[in-house]
Amino acid sequence: MEKIPVAILGATGSVGQRFISLLENHPWFKVVALAASDKSAGQKYSQATRWVLDTPMPDYAKDMVIVPATTETVQAKIVFSALHSEIAKDLEPQFAKAGVAVCSNASSYRRGEDVPLLLPEVNANHIHLVKEQRKNKNWSGCIITNPNCTSTGLTVALKALDDAFGVKKVFAVSLQALSGAGYPGVSSLDILDNVIPNINGEEEKVEWEPRKMLGKLNENKIDLADIKFSAHTNRVAVIDGHTVCASVELTSPPADLKLVSEILQNYSAPESAKNLPSSPRPVISLREEADRPQPRLDRLTGKGMTTVIGRLRRDPILDFKFVVLSHNTIRGAAGGSIYNAELLVNEGLL
Ligand code: NAP
Repeated sequence: MEKIPVAILGATGSVGQRFISLLENHPWFKVVALAASDKSAGQKYSQATRWVLDTPMPDYAKDMVIVPATTETVQAKIVFSALHSEIAKDLEPQFAKAGVAVCSNASSYRRGEDVPLLLPEVNANHIHLVKEQRKNKNWSGCIITNPNCTSTGLTVALKALDDAFGVKKVFAVSLQALSGAGYPGVSSLDILDNVIPNINGEEEKVEWEPRKMLGKLNENKIDLADIKFSAHTNRVAVIDGHTVCASVELTSPPADLKLVSEILQNYSAPESAKNLPSSPRPVISLREEADRPQPRLDRLTGKGMTTVIGRLRRDPILDFKFVVLSHNTIRGAAGGSIYNAELLVNEGLL
């Protein structure tokens, strides 16, 4: 099959670099344009970018000249947006209107009633909201979004539990990596020897976004899941990989803890999201050791797309508690967006 031309908006940033890396040799997509701010436009990618990944900058990107992020300068069928939300808010609809499918990491449109907020292994069927969006906006393109990186792994775990036992309440505490704050992000003097107990706007996202993804597609809209959330979000001195310690109350808690571990371990993606190039293999990896998951050791499980869960045990206040780890710039950002784009193509919605 001829590869689909794609572009990256915000290609020089923390998430943009992950896109560059994950799209190298992608079986369906070919990167034809890289866009960033006026500061970088006109320069070769290798000159404009301070590369922060621990794998080398792919050769295909090095000599590409960065263009401004406009519909005239970026010609592609799909654009992957790694823009900050205030910039994405203005730019993403311009691309959708021009007939481009925008796969966004930004929070600007996640709450839109006709905007899919997707984790394909959780709610692949929500992709069909794009038909409603196209009708409402009179666009031939569309905007589809992935959730905030802290909600990502947590929602995968909750989906498995919700399907089996029903989830009523969730109490979650995050330990979030530095790459989640972009580059250069948090100053070293602020974060070394420290924990920062606030990430602006993050708690609200973790308390709301899973309810949309675990909600039901009811004709043309999503009915939010009736689950109560309380979240604390913290920045810690880890480079990649967000950890979330979660306690859950279930509608029908099983007597046997083993049943909960079987449900988590055996969870599989819906049929339409199972065999895409970026499908997580496996969706969930359940660790039995007392001291796992750990970001440094476990974040690259399943090429960074797998949700790693451990320390599953009873909770004396709610029913069960566990620790979830998810790679924030792979499953929680660039890899997630690419997986969404693959689903869009596979469902014949491009
Ligand atoms: P970042 O490292 O600060 O990168 C921002 C990118 O946007 C850079 O490429 C920058 O280009 C570009 N940019 C800035 N102003 C622009 C403009 N006016 N027009 C076009 N491009 C412009 O940020 P990030 O961490 O990659 O985050 C990107 C988005 O993904 C954010 O919305 C963030 O919330 C979301 N997200 C991040 C993570 C994560 O783990 N990091 C996870 C999920 C979602 P220059 O280099 O030219 O300035």
